[in-house]
Amino acid sequence: MAATESQHRIAFVDHAVDIGGAEKSLTELVKRLDPNEFCPVLLHSNNAKWLADGSWGEFTCLPVFGPTQLLEKKRTEVGRGLLRSLADMSASAGPVFSIWRGLMRAEADLVHTNSLKCHLLGGLAARLAGRPLVWHVRDILTAQEGLNLLKRAAMSFKPRIIAISSAVAQQFADLPVTVTLIANGVPLDKFSPGPPNPQLQAELGLAPEDEVLCVVGRLTPWKGHTTLLEALSLAAPRHPHLKLMIVGEVAFWENSYERELKDKIDDLGIAGRVIWTGFREDVPELLRLCDIFVLPSVDEPFGRVLVEAMGVGKPVIGTNSGGVPEIIVDGETGLLVPPKDAEALAEAIEQMLSDPLQAQQMGEAGLNRARDLFDADRVADQVQDVYREVLAAN
Ligand code: UDP
Repeated sequence: MAATESQHRIAFVDHAVDIGGAEKSLTELVKRLDPNEFCPVLLHSNNAKWLADGSWGEFTCLPVFGPTQLLEKKRTEVGRGLLRSLADMSASAGPVFSIWRGLMRAEADLVHTNSLKCHLLGGLAARLAGRPLVWHVRDILTAQEGLNLLKRAAMSFKPRIIAISSAVAQQFADLPVTVTLIANGVPLDKFSPGPPNPQLQAELGLAPEDEVLCVVGRLTPWKGHTTLLEALSLAAPRHPHLKLMIVGEVAFWENSYERELKDKIDDLGIAGRVIWTGFREDVPELLRLCDIFVLPSVDEPFGRVLVEAMGVGKPVIGTNSGGVPEIIVDGETGLLVPPKDAEALAEAIEQMLSDPLQAQQMGEAGLNRARDLFDADRVADQVQDVYREVLAAN
């Protein structure tokens, strides 16, 4: 779609191939931009599977990234790996030039980068193109080298930073850059309370008397599935109908993690209690099947899935780590436990199972909190205010 004279062209840069919370959140934002004011253009990977659902169909999408070793590096390798690659101009020059060319072709007025590597590569391209830059920072960098690199780039590119939680924002606390805290937005019209679908329940082998725990997310070690499996085996003896539904798939470089989880399930003797769904498009429907939603992750930057479960009215258990305590009010909308602590997690699960009324009240309070703070419409308004400020200042 061509921009009109009154519209500002916002170029979004995201190199991801698979869908994650960053891409879901970006899609919900773009759908809500005021068309009188903003015209989005997406610069993306030419094998971006996350665009397959057609959500971006009405917008201009320019494939600018081919598969390169540089872009396929893991988040934990962004420190040393990318430093090495930046030193090696042949690895980073290609993507930077492609983004720059995309920005010129899109006649971008503002560049909004949506992934860690794009903050660096897209940031440099925006600098070369002389365009104002917004970094939507969605990561907690546990490796000091990676964080140092990101901070150095922030000092050089001077982006306006949107951080998805205070835990993310505080990484920049010692820098003279403007950071605005804006939570991720969830479409609460899709994630809403409703009865479980009996057909889906039967397809997944769930019986009406089952007590169902659910975790949704990429199968990657920091999401903490192993802790949840241990907690399940601790709680299982007192709860013969306790089941766990694991929703999500493994990223291509982490196939060994799925094997590790399956071995763990066998070792713990809980194979009959675990349902693997793989990647699913019908997360709202699946959430309605569960009694308790659990996200046992470590250093979670935000955790969209918690808000999605809250939107469906479910009580949630998360960890006292990363941005999660900003979503869950402990004892009110759910329970917080220390990360990597299977015993504490099992206790929290048992507390909810033993007091369904309290669990239901937490679910209701969580739904209200989700509506107050994390609705996608509200969040899109906040982001557009940032664009207006940045455009006015340039
Ligand atoms: N998701 C999905 N299907 C799956 C697994 C995950 O649609 O099988 C979605 C999930 O509903 C959520 C997003 O992927 O919207 C994951 O976001 P989150 O912030 O929880 O995790 P991230 O991927 O950013 O680490």
